[in-house]
Amino acid sequence: MTHSSALTAENPQAQNSEHEATLTTADRCDACGAQAFVRVTMTKGPLYFCAHHWHAHEEGLRPVATDILDETDRLTTAV
Ligand SMILES: [Zn+2]
Repeated sequence: MTHSSALTAENPQAQNSEHEATLTTADRCDACGAQAFVRVTMTKGPLYFCAHHWHAHEEGLRPVATDILDETDRLTTAV
């Protein structure tokens, strides 16, 4: 008998209809205009940040964010 808990935990259909990797070069940091690698969804709408400004504001944003899409790991693999 095998457990399938890993499957249900990562079931993409259980999330939402949006793609997971959604940030593109068209997404720009709201603070400096560089390419955004983090999208912070707030009740009033999404905010976009480059890795630098995400780390600068992360502490204050996490408690108020409803969803955080962090793709900063793509930076280390791409450069
Ligand atoms: Zn920035």
